[in-house]
Amino acid sequence: MSNNKDTQTGQAIVIATYSREMNLRLASGDVVRARIKGRKLKPVCGDRVQAQPLENEPEWLICAIDKRGNELTRPNLRGQIEVLAANIDFLCVVAASKPTADWFIVDRYLCSAELMHVDAAVVYNKSDLEHNIAETHAALADYSRIGYATLTSSAKTGENMDQLEAMLANKTSIIVGQSGVGKSSLINRLTGDSGQRTAVVSEGTGEGKHTTVNSVMLEIGNNGKVIDSPGVRDYAPVTQTNVEVISSFREIRETGQNCRFANCQHIKEPNCAVKEAVDSGDISRRRYESYRRLIVFSEQLARKR
Ligand code: GDP
Ligand code: ZN
Repeated sequence: MSNNKDTQTGQAIVIATYSREMNLRLASGDVVRARIKGRKLKPVCGDRVQAQPLENEPEWLICAIDKRGNELTRPNLRGQIEVLAANIDFLCVVAASKPTADWFIVDRYLCSAELMHVDAAVVYNKSDLEHNIAETHAALADYSRIGYATLTSSAKTGENMDQLEAMLANKTSIIVGQSGVGKSSLINRLTGDSGQRTAVVSEGTGEGKHTTVNSVMLEIGNNGKVIDSPGVRDYAPVTQTNVEVISSFREIRETGQNCRFANCQHIKEPNCAVKEAVDSGDISRRRYESYRRLIVFSEQLARKR
């Protein structure tokens, strides 16, 4: 009766996932390993869950997932929706000089932020490496003029780490971007040498130790929390309809209100305010191209279903 495993079912947060095993942070602040009750339950990092201690075992059991505020999703190869993380306040997309920045991938992550109704920032890392500064600034300017925060950084030299920490203060952010752009290095910088990452990952109870970690939530300065997501080569949001694609490009969504047709797709309709804005330079031609590509992609995705 005296030990704290006799406590009732309580709320906890998923802070690391390893296929069917999770690390939970309990209300007390303790971190415990947990299994999942039933096959249908699929918790992800950031989920608030109901969990209870198992009798005579060090592990806990996740019994239910609380309603999610939002989800970061992507379609898998079969076109089904895969949830990467939940309950996120802010999305931080990292691009870099190496691997060469793919702004179309950055755009598609920003689309997901729009669909999740969270704000986002674009960070250009590895600024210490040689790169075309004019081109980088032009790309970042395309984002800042539509209201996204932008930052250049170097996890190597520490450039702008204070600004990055301030940007991520007092909320839960997910750090996304292509593999190799420096996401883990930036997060290591932000967590300092508290060894937190290692603590979270190696804590375990025998079974399941050193299975690959899918994603993990870490604490940084200024009351920020960051979720490190697994590396990807490519990314696309789950957009079910053209209306969703339109709403996921904030400048197209806004300018599109002035088109002649209320259901304008901004592709070949007459009196299209979006195409006019592209011609006049008010909307970035590259962003518009990104929009058209996503329209095509989401139509292909719809046919898979
Ligand atoms: P992730 O896949 O996005 O998590 O990228 P990593 O953090 O694993 O970094 C990939 C490689 O880039 C590693 O060899 C890092 O040392 C290197 N790297 C990360 N950030 C920087 C940076 O700002 N400058 C330089 N020159 N190298 C970096
Ligand atoms: Zn239009």
